[in-house]
Amino acid sequence: MSALGWPGRRRGTHGGRARSAESSSRGLGWPADGTEAAVRSAPEPAVTTPVEEPFDEASVPDPPAAEPPAAELATAAPAGEEPPALLGEVLPTAAVPPEVAPAPYDPSVLEPADRLRAILRDDAGATAEEDLPIGKQAAAAVRATSPRGREPFPRPPSRRVITVANQKGGVGKTTTTVNLAAALALHGAKVLVIDLDPQGNCSTGLGVPHTVGTPDVYDVLIEQVPIADVVQPADGIDDLWVVPATIDLAGAEIELVSVVARESRLKRAVEAYCAGPGADVDYVLVDCPPSLGLLTVNAMVATTEVLIPIQCEYYALEGLGQLLKNIDLVQQHLNPQVHVSTILLTMYDARTKLADQVAEEVRTHFGDTVLSTRIPRSVRVSEAPGYGQSVVTYDPVSRGALAYVEAARELAVRGSA
Ligand code: ATP
Ligand code: MG
Repeated sequence: MSALGWPGRRRGTHGGRARSAESSSRGLGWPADGTEAAVRSAPEPAVTTPVEEPFDEASVPDPPAAEPPAAELATAAPAGEEPPALLGEVLPTAAVPPEVAPAPYDPSVLEPADRLRAILRDDAGATAEEDLPIGKQAAAAVRATSPRGREPFPRPPSRRVITVANQKGGVGKTTTTVNLAAALALHGAKVLVIDLDPQGNCSTGLGVPHTVGTPDVYDVLIEQVPIADVVQPADGIDDLWVVPATIDLAGAEIELVSVVARESRLKRAVEAYCAGPGADVDYVLVDCPPSLGLLTVNAMVATTEVLIPIQCEYYALEGLGQLLKNIDLVQQHLNPQVHVSTILLTMYDARTKLADQVAEEVRTHFGDTVLSTRIPRSVRVSEAPGYGQSVVTYDPVSRGALAYVEAARELAVRGSA
C-alpha cells in the first residue's frame, strides 16, 4: 500500500494532537477504525522526516504486530531463501528504461535565425537559401534596402501602355497600378499614371490632389485639354507623373456617349502627350473603374496591353469571361493590338487552400501570362493609401512592398525581350 502513496503508519504516530488537524485528510482515504487504534497505541518512533516525504517503509521500525501465520510467510519467500528487502531489488534491470542520449550537436545545421543572418550578410542575397520562402523574402528585403536594390530594371525597347482592368470591384486594380508605377519609377523608369476612375483612389494613393475643381482626366476626355496641362508629379517619387481624377469624371460615361470619336478620346490625348512633353515616358499605366463602360473602352483603345489583377477569392473568376469578351470586341473593332499581356494574383492568403485553388485554376487557364509573383494580403498594403503613399515607399521592406517590387521587376524583364 505505501508504494501507491498511502500515508504510512508513521503519520498516525503524531497521536491525538495531530489527529484534529488531520481529520480533514481522512475523507481522502485515511485508514480509520482498528488500524488507527492500533497505531495510536504503537510506540512513537524517533523519525524526524517531514510528513510530506514519501513514506519509506524500510526506515520505520515495525510496530509490534501479530505474527503472520506461518502459511503466509511460506508464500512470501521460498523455503531456504531470504525474502527480498526492497522492491527495487526484485525488478529485473532490463525493465528500467534506458536513458535517451541527446543528439550530437551539428554546427553545419543552422538555426532559422542564423540562416536569415547569413542571407542578410550576403548583400545580393543570391544563395541557395533563396529556395526557402523565408530566404526569398529575406533576399528581396536585402535588395529593397541596399543601394543595389535601386538598380534600374531593364527599360522596354518601346513605350508600353498598359490598362489595369477588371470590372469586378475591389480586386486590387488601383493598388496594383499605384505600386507597380511606384516600383517601376523607383527603378529607373519614367512612368505616367492615368486615373480613369471617378473614385480617384489612384490619385489618393500617389499623393496627388484631386478635389473638385482640380484639372483632371475629365477635362482631357470631354474638353480635350492636353494631358500636359493636367498632369501632376507624384508625391515623393521622381519620374512618376499622374493625371488625376475628380468626382467630375462620374458624369463622363454619359457625356461621352454623344461626343465624336468617343472611344478614342484617351488614345489621342496619350499619343499627343507622348509625341511632345512625355516623349521619354517608358510606361503609361491606366487605372480603370470597376465597369466595362466607355471609360474602360477608352483605356483599351489607348493601350496595347491589358493587365488583369485577380483576387485569390472564390468569385474572382466570375465575370472574367465577360471582360475577355470585351477585350476581344475592342481588338476586332477598335484596336487590333490590344491583348491580355499580364495577370497578377492579388490578396493571396497562404493560409487558405482556396487561394491556392484559385491560383492554380488561373495558371491552368492563362499559363505564362500569369506573373509568378503573387501579391500577399497584407495590412501594410491597405494602410499605405491613408498616408497618400504606395506601400513601396510607405514600408519598403513589408511583404506587400517586396511582392510589388518583384512583380514590377518581372513585368519589366518580360517586356524587355
Ligand atoms: P475598385 O474596383 O473599387 O476600383 P480596386 O479593384 O481598384 O477597387 P483596390 O482599391 O486596389 O481595388 O483594393 C480594394 C481594397 O483592398 C482597398 O482597401 C485596398 O487597400 C485593399 N487591398 C488591395 N490589395 C491588398 C493587399 N494585397 N493586401 C491587403 N489589402 C489590399
Ligand atoms: Mg480602383
